[in-house]
Amino acid sequence: MTTESLATGEVLMELCDIDMSFTGASGERLNVLDAVNLQLREGEIVALLGRSGSGKSTLLRLIAGLLAPTSGQVTYRDAPLRGANPGAALVFQSFALMPWLTVQDNVELGLAARGVAPAARRQRALEAIDRIGLDGFETAYPKELSGGMRQRVGFARALVLEPDLLLMDEPFSALDVLTAENLRTELVNLWSTKDFPTKCVCIVTHNIEEAVQLADRVMVLGSNPGRIIAEIAVDAPRPRDRRAPGFEALVD
Ligand code: ADP
Ligand code: MG
Repeated sequence: MTTESLATGEVLMELCDIDMSFTGASGERLNVLDAVNLQLREGEIVALLGRSGSGKSTLLRLIAGLLAPTSGQVTYRDAPLRGANPGAALVFQSFALMPWLTVQDNVELGLAARGVAPAARRQRALEAIDRIGLDGFETAYPKELSGGMRQRVGFARALVLEPDLLLMDEPFSALDVLTAENLRTELVNLWSTKDFPTKCVCIVTHNIEEAVQLADRVMVLGSNPGRIIAEIAVDAPRPRDRRAPGFEALVD
């Protein structure tokens, strides 16, 4: 299936003919993804939309390189992906913060793992914390924060890595409606910032309105097994369409 994409950027990730199966509890094969083809390009927000169990998180883990497919190829910048994707950072539905670490230390963790020196780590974490609106909460612990603020920490922890690809697995599902709306707006605002380093956002959701609100392109996953049953190019003027001709005239 091919649909004209709004994005014309360079291909960052390519998944070709991906099958993914797991072995179930009683030894049976569980076919989760079947013949999935997906490209993620620079300059686009892509939503993976599907029901619970359709394989969205599995697909995101394949893109992140946390799983290898049963068959098919995953490439990042034209090279086969082996192990964790060096260009990707993840945001999770359940935030996945370390409860024993402060906001600052949670945000620094990924930089520490990548060998960034302490002074640079601290500087970059403070910038990310500030950027996401958590200035003043550096020494707070996750349990002292609201759900929305915890997810802001989740965002900061991903953004501090300056990833090419921001992979988000139902990042707003655990939040109340207003908080979710605020954070969606924040995401679009960040995306629209000229110096935002991330080149592509891939967001998993079961919420069709959210998919259409945020994404340039929506890939719809059907269930049992998960396969892409529709690709929708969303065509609405939004702040992030800054890359489109005439955008400056719309916003300025
Ligand atoms: P979604 O995110 O769309 O809800 P998932 O990708 O989490 O779907 O899961 C798709 C299917 O794959 C589900 O039936 C789930 O139980 C199964 N599954 C996911 N990961 C594993 C695993 N590691 N082992 C066995 N089954 C799995
Ligand atoms: Mg999931």
